[in-house]
Amino acid sequence: MNNKVEALKILVVEDSKVTVKVLRNYLAAMHVSAPLIAESGRQALEIYERERPDVVLLDIKLPDIDGFEVARQIRKMEGEQEWAAIIFLTAMNTDEDLARGIAAGGDDYLVKPVSEIVFHAKVRAMQRLVGMQRKLVDVTQKLDGANAELLRLSTTDALTGIANRRSLDHFMEREWRRCLRMKKPLALVMMDIDYFKLFNDKYGHQAGDDCLKKVADRIARAAPRATDLAARYGGEEFTLVLGETDQDGAMWIAERVRQMVADLKVPHYATGSKFVTISCGVVSVLPEEKVSLEILVKSADAALYQAKRAGRDRVVAGQYGKF
Ligand code: GH3
Ligand code: MG
Ligand code: MG
Ligand code: MG
Repeated sequence: MNNKVEALKILVVEDSKVTVKVLRNYLAAMHVSAPLIAESGRQALEIYERERPDVVLLDIKLPDIDGFEVARQIRKMEGEQEWAAIIFLTAMNTDEDLARGIAAGGDDYLVKPVSEIVFHAKVRAMQRLVGMQRKLVDVTQKLDGANAELLRLSTTDALTGIANRRSLDHFMEREWRRCLRMKKPLALVMMDIDYFKLFNDKYGHQAGDDCLKKVADRIARAAPRATDLAARYGGEEFTLVLGETDQDGAMWIAERVRQMVADLKVPHYATGSKFVTISCGVVSVLPEEKVSLEILVKSADAALYQAKRAGRDRVVAGQYGKF
């Protein structure tokens, strides 16, 4: 039979030199040539903390703290995704001792003297559990990664990489409630690329996509604070949510974004400047119970529409409730 134990880190906690020697021999037969040895409870905890062994063979009667306490301390030290197999190896042979050992965090309980065959079989069983635990940690980490990626995908717009409509709605609701609580104004800037249908028709859909990415990048740069969010509302429309921002502040930011887009100098035959431009509608309001987010969105949309009608490539200040 192949007794080899792959890559198991074993800590032997035993104050009797004779027993240590026996266990060393048992382990050597399993090709574990250098087990960690602790001769006291405190030394065991020190080594555990530093080495994080997979299996702890734990005597109960030790010169300082007993094995039950050592097991309890090890369980306390273990991180969320950590687990060491603890096997008590003791001369204490009553049922109550065994029950205490398991209650203290032990996984198995062997009474000395232990035959080599039983010892090997028990270590093998623990090896199997350690292997399963490792797989579980691995799968959990992969799942965490996949969940993080799913969250990212479900909240960002695939083309531009900025927040999508879904996270916009979520953020707006949250920021609305926060500004309501803090008695601070909340501003919305609704933006729309001018004559974008003609841009696509003339320069192609791919050029249209590239343009959307560039514009989104400028808009995102204008909203760096934690209380701001730049989002793709849909198509060639974007929204800036600006927490704790009054009408003047929001106008200033919208004007800056408009200028930044103009400065991209993406050629567009159909606009007045012959470059891609955007129109913006801006409304800021102090949230109150009788004021609604829905009406704020409609009001900012109405201001955007006015900017379009007034000739595009401009920022128009709207008013809450006017649409
Ligand atoms: P206006 O100045 O009044 O806003 O005119 P417009 O042509 O920009 O407005 P309209 O709403 O008529 O057209 C929007 C166009 O935006 C339609 C579509 O071709 C383009 N568009 C929307 N989403 C995308 C996209 O993801 N990629 C590309 N390339 N084009 C898009
Ligand atoms: Mg002892
Ligand atoms: Mg549009
Ligand atoms: Mg448009």
